[in-house]
Amino acid sequence: MKEAYVNSYHRCAKCASDHMLDGAFFADPGGQRVVVGVDRHPDFGALARSASTQVHASVCGSCGFVELYANQPTELYEVYCNAARARESRAR
Ligand SMILES: [Zn+2]
Repeated sequence: MKEAYVNSYHRCAKCASDHMLDGAFFADPGGQRVVVGVDRHPDFGALARSASTQVHASVCGSCGFVELYANQPTELYEVYCNAARARESRAR
């Protein structure tokens, strides 16, 4: 038997049920998939390169609570951090 995940991703953050549906899609009524992205840094302004990624949802099959997760979070974080690095090198 496959080892079950035990982290909070597989347990509802609201009702603690383990009836979680993972990897559900998140879209507008027309079926267009929703993305989350970064194009500016709060301290350093507009980014030279923006990045976005689609999201997937984890849905509780008991209470209906929905959590969203970025599909490529590390890519977003890298672009975000590059903004700070670029500003530092420009200041010198
Ligand atoms: Zn729940």
